[in-house]
Amino acid sequence: MATIVCEGLMKQYDGGQPVLHPLDLHIDEGEFVVLLGPSGCGKSTMLRMIAGLEEISGGSLSIGGTVVNDVPARERNVAMVFQNYALYPHMSVYENIAFGLRRLKTPKTEIDRRVHEVAAMLNLDALLDRKPRAMSGGQQQRAAIARAMIKTPAVFLFDEPLSNLDAKLRAQLRTDIKRLHQRLKTTTVYVTHDQLEAMTLADRVILMRGGRIEQEGTPTELYRYPRTIFGAGFIGTPAMNFLDASVKRAGEGVTVAFSAGRWQLRGKRFQHLHDGQAVKLAVRPNFVRIQENEKVDDTLVLNGAVELVEVLGAEALITVDYSGERTTALVPASSVPHTGDHVRLALREHELHVFDVASGENVSLDPVDEAAVSLSTPRPHTAPGVGVH
Ligand code: ADP
Ligand code: MG
Repeated sequence: MATIVCEGLMKQYDGGQPVLHPLDLHIDEGEFVVLLGPSGCGKSTMLRMIAGLEEISGGSLSIGGTVVNDVPARERNVAMVFQNYALYPHMSVYENIAFGLRRLKTPKTEIDRRVHEVAAMLNLDALLDRKPRAMSGGQQQRAAIARAMIKTPAVFLFDEPLSNLDAKLRAQLRTDIKRLHQRLKTTTVYVTHDQLEAMTLADRVILMRGGRIEQEGTPTELYRYPRTIFGAGFIGTPAMNFLDASVKRAGEGVTVAFSAGRWQLRGKRFQHLHDGQAVKLAVRPNFVRIQENEKVDDTLVLNGAVELVEVLGAEALITVDYSGERTTALVPASSVPHTGDHVRLALREHELHVFDVASGENVSLDPVDEAAVSLSTPRPHTAPGVGVH
């Protein structure tokens, strides 16, 4: 196992615009970090630089306390698993897994012991004689992981390893990978554009956008304290609701006005909003409910007509339309309204986020939230960890 430390790490091609702006990142020994972000934001580039498959344009990268900028890939003791399984088609699963050790001239009995050991961890025991084409995508990807594991790397790198699998296999292999990490505790960097994968796998999520780190933190921190509109919209399913609004101040009172009404905000964390400020109000669908009785004190309400009902199982997602804007609410499937019904949606003020439109920043994090968020900003670089090279 090893720490990974990036200081001012950057990447540009042929002196063009940086595809990765200088960034600092400290990954602890044994940590499972997910690089999350939309296509093209620089995730694979970052991962390939760690692997040694991509030249570093600036800054430094250390693995296990050693600067590896100029160390070739094969000497970095990292193993990488890609989106396409990349198994040798003419070799059995056994031979595919054994390949890396054979090249190192490891004794036969030792190879045999290791192949069976990793095959058992990945439930491949019964498939060792198969050729890749006679296996499902999930099995092939498990074989690719076993092949990467066999040399007990100090660092595991995964680049969208589940993207080619159907939803059910994806969920299965996701739990396999998580279980494997709990057992081996190998430092892992995992790239995905799928926020659910990131949330379920990561100790820490690095949310990226346009070659920069947008926010980093535990899955819960990113979910509860989105620092930007982008982060708020990217994380969580069903997706965050946004309402365009403008702030009205009258004396001590803070009101936000939007197409379908206005809300008075009483909480301290809204008191610095200024008159005329263009904002986006945001609330997650699971914090929006259908209000049957009278308004209670900290409740904000919205009236509209049910446009869509999507039953998901135990819950249903309802879409409510009011003056052309839409808000969704995740409600128990046992009490769904009908399409066309007029409903009153309610949310608690403390579930509301307010974002400044001009800066894209969350302007409603209270000091307690801020403390939680600052925990997730880049940590000071600690002493290099002990590498196992
Ligand atoms: P992601 O994995 O997040 O989808 P990538 O790391 O693959 O993104 O790419 C980041 C950016 O770098 C993209 O804008 C991509 O077009 C650019 N890029 C990747 N490889 C090259 C290359 N060989 N030459 C120039 N630009 C590249
Ligand atoms: Mg990629």
